[in-house]
Amino acid sequence: MRLSRYFLPTLRETPKEAEIVSHRLMLRAGLIRQEAAGIYAWLPLGLRVLEKVNRIIREEQNRSGAIELLMPTIQSADLWRESGRYDAYGKEMLRIRDRQDREMLYGPTNEEMITEIFRAYVRSYKDLPLNLYHIQWKFRDEIRPRFGTMRSREFLMKDAYSFDLDRESARQSYNKMFVAYLRTFSRMGLKAIPMRADTGPIGGDLSHEFIILASTGESEVFGHADYLDFPVPSEDTNFDDHRALQNIVDRWTSLYAATSEMHDPAAFETVPADRRMSARGIEVGHIFYFGTKYSDPMGATVTGPDGQERPVHMGSYGIGPTRLVAAIIEASHDDQGIIWPAAVAPFDVAILNLKSGDAATDAASAELERAFAARGLDVLYDDREERPGAKFATADLIGVPWQVLVGPRSLAEGKVELKHRATGQRELVSLSEAPGRIVSGG
Ligand code: ATP
Ligand code: MG
Repeated sequence: MRLSRYFLPTLRETPKEAEIVSHRLMLRAGLIRQEAAGIYAWLPLGLRVLEKVNRIIREEQNRSGAIELLMPTIQSADLWRESGRYDAYGKEMLRIRDRQDREMLYGPTNEEMITEIFRAYVRSYKDLPLNLYHIQWKFRDEIRPRFGTMRSREFLMKDAYSFDLDRESARQSYNKMFVAYLRTFSRMGLKAIPMRADTGPIGGDLSHEFIILASTGESEVFGHADYLDFPVPSEDTNFDDHRALQNIVDRWTSLYAATSEMHDPAAFETVPADRRMSARGIEVGHIFYFGTKYSDPMGATVTGPDGQERPVHMGSYGIGPTRLVAAIIEASHDDQGIIWPAAVAPFDVAILNLKSGDAATDAASAELERAFAARGLDVLYDDREERPGAKFATADLIGVPWQVLVGPRSLAEGKVELKHRATGQRELVSLSEAPGRIVSGG
C-alpha cells in the first residue's frame, strides 16, 4: 500500500474529548471516527486491526470445536417475550418499530435467537455437544458511553453458545471456551486473568470474566501476581481430552483472583504480601454457564439416551473485539504512539522513503516494497513528499512493528536502516538482506 494513495487521516492535535490514551491514539492514528455518541466508523487502518483481532478469535473458536454462523442484528420483540427478557432488559435495549408497527429491537445479545435456531433443528442428545458462534454488531444504549470503543453503544461481539445434555457435559463445553480464551488473548499479546464472576440465581462457579490489567480499566481487581507468569496452553492442546482441559482450568483458577463485586478481603489476605496484586482491569471476555434459563421457557428440549425429553443445558461466551483493539493499545504504547503486537498490526512493515523524488531512494523503496510483498508481508510504503521528521512521526504513531528507513546517505553504501518500533533499536543492513529480516506476525 502506498501512503500517498491510502486513506490515513492522522491528527496532529490531541482530541480534547478523549480521556484515556487508547481513545486519543485511536483518533490521532486515524483508526476510528465518532459518528454519534458511542457510535464509531472504523477507518481503513482501524479496520485492518479489527480484522486481525477477529481472525485470531475465529481461529481459536474453530480450534476448540465451535462452529461459526451469522445471526442478524435486528430481532423481533416476540422472541424476547418468550424468555421474559423483553420487559426485563430495560433502557439499554434499542427498541424499533417497523412500518407494519411490529416491535423489533437491535440485538444487545443473542441467547433467545440461538435458542430458537437450536429448537427448530435439534432433537436428540446424539447431536450434542454443539457450540455455535458469530461475530456481529450489538447495540446497548449504555448510560455513559465513553473511552471510545472501550465502552461504546454499538460494538462488535463474538458470542458463542453451547448446548449440552447435562451439567457435567456443559462443564466440558465451558472448559473448552475457557482454554480457547486463554489462547486468544495471549496471541494478541495480552495477559488476561480469568476472574470468578457472579452467576446470579444459577449459582455454582461457572462464570469467569477475563480481565487484563490497565491503569485506566473500569473494574477494580484483586489477585495473585503469579497468574501473570502462568504458561498459556499450547497450540496442540487436545480439546477432546476432558481431563487435560480440566487440569488447565483447575490450575488457572487455583489462585486468588476477583473483581470488586466478588472480592473477599479475608481470602485475599492469605495471598503472600509480595504477590498480592490490587489493580485496575478491563473486561475483555466473559464466559457463563446458565443451565436451562432460556431452554426451559422457550421449549428447547432434547431426548436423552433414556428416551426422556429435557431442556438443553446452555452457556454463553462473549469477547469484545472493538473493546479489545482499545485494550491492546492501553497495554502497548509509548509517548510517540501505538506499539502493535505483531499478530494484530495493521501492516507488518513500513518503508520510509526519506527523500521521495530522489531516483535512488525511490527505486530502492519500490524494490523493497516488491520484495516484502513477495514474502507475504503487509507493507505500507510512505512515498509522500514530506520531511523525514513527519514520516518518522507518522510511522511511530501508527505503530507498525518494523520500519525500514531508506535514505540517500546509507543507500550510497547499499544499506537501509531497520527500526524495531517496540524497542527503538536500529540496525544498518544491506538492501538485499532487509526483506529476510522481517517476519509476519500473523
Ligand atoms: P461490562 O461489564 O463492561 O458492561 P458486560 O458484562 O455487560 O460488560 P457482556 O454481556 O459480558 O458485557 O459482553 C461480552 C463482552 O462484550 C464483554 O466482555 C466486552 O468485551 C464486550 N462489551 C460489552 N459491552 C461493551 C460495550 N459497551 N462496548 C464495547 N464492548 C463491550
Ligand atoms: Mg460481562
